[in-house]
Amino acid sequence: MSDRPTIEEYRAKITNKQFQAYKCVGCGAVITPPSGTCYSCGNNEMDWTDVSGKGTLVSFTVIHIAPDEFVDEAPYYIAIIELEEGSRVTCRLEGFDPLKPEEVELGVPVSLTYITEGEKTYLAFKPT
Ligand SMILES: [Zn+2]
Repeated sequence: MSDRPTIEEYRAKITNKQFQAYKCVGCGAVITPPSGTCYSCGNNEMDWTDVSGKGTLVSFTVIHIAPDEFVDEAPYYIAIIELEEGSRVTCRLEGFDPLKPEEVELGVPVSLTYITEGEKTYLAFKPT
């Protein structure tokens, strides 16, 4: 049995531009962001798994008034992406003007990218 994955490892991987999800050892469900318990079967043994980096835009919002840590980055998009593997992930959204949210189309195919702001790296998706 491998060591149990942790949220700290998940974040460190994103900082290194490596996006991986959890995979339930019990039923094979792909889970992201990391959770200690499988949403599907309740098992709590997880392993890392690679994901395709492809998905569909499910929802989004524009952050105009950001928390102090992100003030310099506003306005920016936060989106929910449904991965090809079936799990959903919250991330940044690239490729659209944050001042024109009416141009964003739900259901469009998106692919993995990353946004670097200073020393921070964020998981992001953009239209394919
Ligand atoms: Zn499971």
